[in-house]
Amino acid sequence: MQTIQELEELFEKYWENEKGYIVMPYTIRARAYLAVIADDIHIEAVLDNNDALDNTYFGGIQIKAASKFLKENISQNGVKKKILVSAHYSEIAEQLKNAGYVENIDFIDMHMFVSMYYWRKKGEIHLLDVHTAVTTYCSLNCKNCNMFINHYADSRRRNIGMEEFRENFNALFRSVNYCYKVSILGGEPLLNRELPQMLDWLHKEYGSRVGQIVIVTNGTVPVQERLIKVLKETGAKISISDYTASVPYDEKLKRFEDELENSGIEFEINKEMKWKNFFFPEEKQKVSFESAREHMLCCNPVFRGLNDKKFYYCHIVWSAVQAGLLKEDKADFVDLEEIKSPAERKKLLSHDLGFVENGSISLCRYCGGCGSDNESLVVAGVQ
Ligand code: SF4
Ligand code: SF4
Repeated sequence: MQTIQELEELFEKYWENEKGYIVMPYTIRARAYLAVIADDIHIEAVLDNNDALDNTYFGGIQIKAASKFLKENISQNGVKKKILVSAHYSEIAEQLKNAGYVENIDFIDMHMFVSMYYWRKKGEIHLLDVHTAVTTYCSLNCKNCNMFINHYADSRRRNIGMEEFRENFNALFRSVNYCYKVSILGGEPLLNRELPQMLDWLHKEYGSRVGQIVIVTNGTVPVQERLIKVLKETGAKISISDYTASVPYDEKLKRFEDELENSGIEFEINKEMKWKNFFFPEEKQKVSFESAREHMLCCNPVFRGLNDKKFYYCHIVWSAVQAGLLKEDKADFVDLEEIKSPAERKKLLSHDLGFVENGSISLCRYCGGCGSDNESLVVAGVQ
């Protein structure tokens, strides 16, 4: 699909008028969606490849073993239940195609479906995961940082102030109705001393329009008492990227985790050992202009970016420009201050769904990306 009009036609023909849908697989993202959409969209069941989940329930919705369901579903003379793919799109799409399902007719990316559903039925814009950077300072200096933090000259680094943070979200929520998740990151977000005030304000001002707030940290900076208090009040979560396999800060991290645990703050630990090699900016791996769109769709980043009152399909572009590694290209973002009409709101929706002005983001031509077309891996967190 090249345009949002094509997606709308497809949605109208194959998706809009179904009585119920199936979600696959059962992931954190699926749960985030289901907690919100279940009142509007009838979800009949959730499928998962983990057979141990068969016949368990999430909020009254039955979880079923995918293998068995897919076979039975397809044998009902062509009338298949429509499947919304919540995550791991490439792998699940491959599995569904092998089982006889047709892409965009029998199954579709859940993000596309939910966005189209709310836009067409209610004129609302729903976003899946919006990342905002509150600092470009970091306590680590990772060689392959995907925000290019190790490439900033000191003169270019900055903390985002409270006022700027407010303006960014006010600009976003003037056009957007709901965000299933807002992720606050950096650099290292805990280096920004205004983080507790930001969290508090976001929760009070837009809490009813945000499913979950998550702070992404490397766990090296002690948690201020004020932050603990606001985390408790807002129910925001902490996501810790554990780089101790590459950087010796085990004791600091242990203290950090103990502090959260003792305070009853919800947190998760990601101990990713490998990252995709983005190549940029060291090696300017160049994808041709013609194939850049395919490369971008294969990467399919699930996060969008919000900074400088601009909405980015891919947040790392913002950071590459801030670091002085890339020239700003107006086609890489939607300026939220310029949205004054319904047509301009639709441009925001199109951008979110990957129908970006030049077919792809300018950086996609140089960046290895996270898709299956990039097999080059690097060790996470190496300094
Ligand atoms: S800790 Fe995170 S933000 Fe900081 S340099 Fe490493 S990858 Fe980048
Ligand atoms: S390939 Fe493109 S969309 Fe993917 S991370 Fe790189 S710049 Fe972003």
